Parts: sequence; structure tokens; C-alpha cells
Amino acid sequence: MSTSLGQYADFGELLASMLKQTGWDAWRTRIASCPAAAVDDVLAKPEQGIDDLWALLAPLSPGQLERMAQQAHRVTLQRFGRTVLLYAPLYVSNFCSNACVYCGFNCRNRVARRALMIDEAEAESALIRAMGFQHILLVSGEDPKHAGTGYFAALASRLRHQFSSIGIEVQPLSSIEYAELIACGVDSVTCYQETYNPTTYERVHRAGPKRDYARRLGTLERAAAAGIRKVGLSPLYGLDDWRVEALMAGVHAHYMATRFWRTQVSISFPRLRPAAGGYEPPCPLDDAGLAQLICAFRLVLPDVHLVLSTREPAGLRDRLLPLGITQMSAGSRTSPLGYSHDKEAGEQFTVMDERSPDDVCAMISAAGYEPVWKDWDESFLNG
Ligand code: SF4
Repeated sequence: MSTSLGQYADFGELLASMLKQTGWDAWRTRIASCPAAAVDDVLAKPEQGIDDLWALLAPLSPGQLERMAQQAHRVTLQRFGRTVLLYAPLYVSNFCSNACVYCGFNCRNRVARRALMIDEAEAESALIRAMGFQHILLVSGEDPKHAGTGYFAALASRLRHQFSSIGIEVQPLSSIEYAELIACGVDSVTCYQETYNPTTYERVHRAGPKRDYARRLGTLERAAAAGIRKVGLSPLYGLDDWRVEALMAGVHAHYMATRFWRTQVSISFPRLRPAAGGYEPPCPLDDAGLAQLICAFRLVLPDVHLVLSTREPAGLRDRLLPLGITQMSAGSRTSPLGYSHDKEAGEQFTVMDERSPDDVCAMISAAGYEPVWKDWDESFLNG
């Protein structure tokens, strides 16, 4: 696998080249048939690189996951120490103009819809702030009529002096729009490609602007070109073969970290759950696979942040933490007004780890790590 970046205009071109040389199904076969000895050879290297990722995603022999976990734990301590950054999401709107078959916010589903007024969003954020959070992630369905660039600019301007970091996970925007939001205090952009397989992408995105695969794929590059400080990416595990999805996500992260070296990259691990509308994930990722993914990314992308949300249950989050996780959400509500009115509007997914932020902090401390509420101050730049 050659991942030399210089010859590609953008990540879309790199991905297209990878899939042209070795199609999606051929990648699946190649990874699935990788011999155990090849995995051993990769694990025996003093350091692993992005070209080793496909082997580390192969089905493992007994003992290999344990070795990966030990190495991943060691690398994490070297690069990040014993720290875990905490953040909380604020769902500002669940209106959406897309018809993603796997999502409860799908515009064709009948769920209670709500978009917060700026004052309401600020009041919800105050509750998040009161829990101790300094990092907030603004999340919305994709419908600019209810939550467009102007809305996020106004909200970020209100919140910028209350939080040390404001992230957005909303519809893809242009570089000009990202620049506008950065000027208002937004410093991170998360955008999940959902699936890197263009064929599957077309099948599961039935209507709306999200059907434009290429535009979504270029989202993080547009944000980075505008000067965003942090980007987050992932597929949505469950839509297609998780091993191939992870390979493409790893190459995407490597591309972003190399080409936009000033921009911090993070990878999340959202696993698809059954959604409103009765959708069942066709390619579920099990717990052992999730652990393998975390270890594999940590070994080949040692400086990338790995994020684990409250989609996962408490006990599993506790066990996965030492493998390489550096950021966690806590106390999350996934519906608008969720912090002040429990479950008034429809949720995007069910929170599995329902512990309070204090309880999550206690778990992190008991595991020998330091919970971090704030890892950044704008005065670093201006001082
Ligand atoms: S996944 Fe996002 S874009 Fe798709 S329906 Fe849900 S909220 Fe809308």
C-alpha cells in the first residue's frame, strides 16, 4: 500500500486511487486473509507506520490482541501521559433535510423535532459549564433553515468566553463559512464520512444534500484550509466491513495530519445502534473488534487523539481507556433541551454510559489517569 501524499490534489483523489488499484472487496479479502505471521512481523517492529495498518486490522490469532494492547498502552503513555480530556455535546437542533437510513433524525422519521433558540442553547450550555466542562461540542441535524452558519456564529460568539474550546458537528460548510465560525470562537470541526465505500454511501443516503459523497469527504480539508485548530473523523461502524472502513479512516487521518500539520486530528469510534425506523446495522462491530481498532490506530498514528463517547456502556469504556483513549464525553444528552428537560425531543442515539461527569472522573482517577477539563487557552496564541 503506497500512501505517498505528494502526488494527490486532495484526500478524495488519494482514496479514489486506493480503491482503483485495489477495490473495496479486494481490500476486504486482503485484510481478512492476512497471515498471522505477517501480523507478528508488524508487532515485532520497533515502530509501526500507516502502511502497517491493514495487517493490524486482520483477524487475530490468540495472544495477538493482548500484545497489541500492551504496545498501544505503552505508546499512549509516551505520547500523552496519563491524561483524558473531557467534553460534552450540546444538541441544538434535530431537524434534518437528509434521509440517512440508519439515523433517528432522518427527515422521513416521525420524531419530536426541536431547534433551540440562541438563548435556550446558551442556557443549556450553562448547565454543561456548571458540571465543570470547558470543552463543548455543538451538534445538530443538517438543516441550515434551523441551524445554519449564522446561527452557529451567533451562538459561538456568546459561548467563546465561557468555554476554552467550542467544536461543531453539523452540516458540511465551505472554507469561507468555516473562517467565519473560527473568527467567532469555533476551534474544532468533526465530520463522520459514515462509510468510505462510495457504493454503500449512495445506498444508505437516500435523499438530501448529504448524498454528495465528494463534498462530505472534503469537509475537513476545507475546515483545515480555513485554519481550524482541530478536526475529528470516523466512519460509522456497522454500515460496511469495519476492517476496510478503519483502513480508509486511518489513511484519512494520516493524510490530514501530514498535509495540515498545524491541525490536531482525532478519530472517534461510533458504532451503529438500531435506529428509529427499524434499521439494523448490517455489519456490526463487536467489542473485541473495537478494542483491536483502538490499538491499531494508536500504533500507526501515535499522535492522533482517540475519542470514546457515551454511546458505549460504562464497563466497556473503563476497559478500553488504557488502550489509547485520550478524550471522553460524559453526562451526555443527545436531544435538544436534554440537559434541562430529560428527553423532551427525539434523541439521535441512546446514551449507554449514564454516569455523571463526577462518576466518570472518579473512574478515570481510579484507573491512574488525570481527568482534564481544559487543555487549551486562547491566550497561548495571543500572549
Ligand atoms: S445522520 Fe446526520 S444527516 Fe443523517 S439523518 Fe441523522 S442527523 Fe441527519
